[in-house]
Amino acid sequence: AIEISALNKWFGDYHALRDIDLQVEHGERIVVCGPSGSGKSTLIRCVNSLETHDSGTIRVDGLEMRDAASVAKVRAEVGMVFQQFNLFPHLTILQNLTLGPTKARGLSQKDAEQKAMAYLERVQIPDQAHKRPKELSGGQQQRVAIARSLCMEPKIMLFDEPTSALDPEMIAEVLDVILDLANDGMTMIVVTHEMGFARKAADRMIFMDHGAIVETGTPDVFFDAPKSERCRTFLSQIL
Ligand code: ATP
Ligand code: MG
Repeated sequence: AIEISALNKWFGDYHALRDIDLQVEHGERIVVCGPSGSGKSTLIRCVNSLETHDSGTIRVDGLEMRDAASVAKVRAEVGMVFQQFNLFPHLTILQNLTLGPTKARGLSQKDAEQKAMAYLERVQIPDQAHKRPKELSGGQQQRVAIARSLCMEPKIMLFDEPTSALDPEMIAEVLDVILDLANDGMTMIVVTHEMGFARKAADRMIFMDHGAIVETGTPDVFFDAPKSERCRTFLSQIL
């Protein structure tokens, strides 16, 4: 579980996160949306300490993100997938997937390859294992990036606009993979404006604006009866 309490973050004198309180239970699926610059990326980057915070606490599975040791432990449990796939271009897909497990987890090459192939099956591209990233479509590359995260056996997955760099026809194949993980009980926070996906996948929606959580609720309530004017305006612009 993730427990965020009274979290504040400044970039210089810009107040990027304002008193964020958020509890994510084990197995819960959270979808975060909100205007550009509202702090969505900053929030989830704080969860695995890609950004430091200035006040408040973040606990992941009871471990407070404070010193290097707890940060390292938490990072080992939290997978993150970005808009850009960040695959190593000179390595094959299989090599991209086995790098972390062999270097950081001490798996043998054989075990790491077995695991990698299992996750490539899971994201439905085992036939791409021996290609290099540039030989794959954007949707396939993003599925590789997801499989690469899964090879580290994370307990929590964070997705930051995983489909916003993709051509429209490839968005569904990536969202289907994430939905499959969600249905399997993975704890996840997904920043996305794909609201059809959100309705299917989210236990809870979060709307951020100007660094604060402005509204939260189940998808039914959130989409059909948003309480705040800001949220209504936002939804009317993207739906
Ligand atoms: P988008 O939808 O465009 O991805 P976002 O909601 O993810 O937006 P953030 O990337 O979290 O927004 O940024 C929140 C605010 O913090 C923005 O105003 C941004 O300019 C600022 N910001 C983010 N990163 C930095 C940084 N490294 N240095 C200074 N300001 C930053
Ligand atoms: Mg962002």
